[in-house]
Amino acid sequence: MPERCLGVPLDFAEARRRLVEELKAMGYIRSWKVERAMLKVPREEFVPEDLRLYAYEDRPLPIGYGQTISAPSIVAYMTELLDPDVGHKVLEVGTGSGYQAAVLAEIVAPEDAPREEWGHVWSIERIPELAEFARRNLERTGYADRVTVVVGDGTLGLPEEAPFDRIIVTAAAPRIPEPLLDQLKPGGRLVAPVGDRWAQDLVLAVKNESGEVEEVRTIPVIFVPLVGRYGFREEG
Ligand code: SAM
Repeated sequence: MPERCLGVPLDFAEARRRLVEELKAMGYIRSWKVERAMLKVPREEFVPEDLRLYAYEDRPLPIGYGQTISAPSIVAYMTELLDPDVGHKVLEVGTGSGYQAAVLAEIVAPEDAPREEWGHVWSIERIPELAEFARRNLERTGYADRVTVVVGDGTLGLPEEAPFDRIIVTAAAPRIPEPLLDQLKPGGRLVAPVGDRWAQDLVLAVKNESGEVEEVRTIPVIFVPLVGRYGFREEG
């Protein structure tokens, strides 16, 4: 029985398929692995109950504590830039709802791959209540064994699990935090919105085999601020 809103049945799977087709047509989704992951992860399970109706509109949605779940087009674009693969160790800074972490887990640890080939996603969130929200969402949707949510200042990275094949920052940073570059493997990729508190560019940083980092600016974006030692100061 599909969920109903104002008496109208909501077919989330169909809405998801339609959104993925639109994101492909607009060029945000370019690879089969990102398409497959976004078709699989139910975004309606990562938004507050009263916003489920809007889960398949291409826009960010509030998740409480002044934070947001990013728009699906941005999740797709960042995942394509990051280019994760089966078996990768991934660090996400800014867990929020847990949706981006679930999309990454679908790629690095797909259910149809042998478990010994699975990678893993570590995701850091500074607001304990949001970390708990994300843990519940990931548990309910079956990603709890592929994503570890940690509470803390993600600008410091996670030295005890480093080095990482891929690092994604999902909050706006004044510059790429140095500890994150240090914790990236040679050959690794890092994606982060970099700029001021109000507007940023999505930056792709690639570390070559000799450890040198090259940064490429891509599209303009607007994210909530990364607050921490190597980020912005808390306002107020
Ligand atoms: N990736 C999330 C998702 O899929 O729902 C959306 C992330 S939201 C745009 C940014 C998140 O970064 C917020 O939840 C915020 O609390 C978190 N954040 C900000 N500064 C942080 C820091 N230094 N360490 C960890 N998380 C941080």
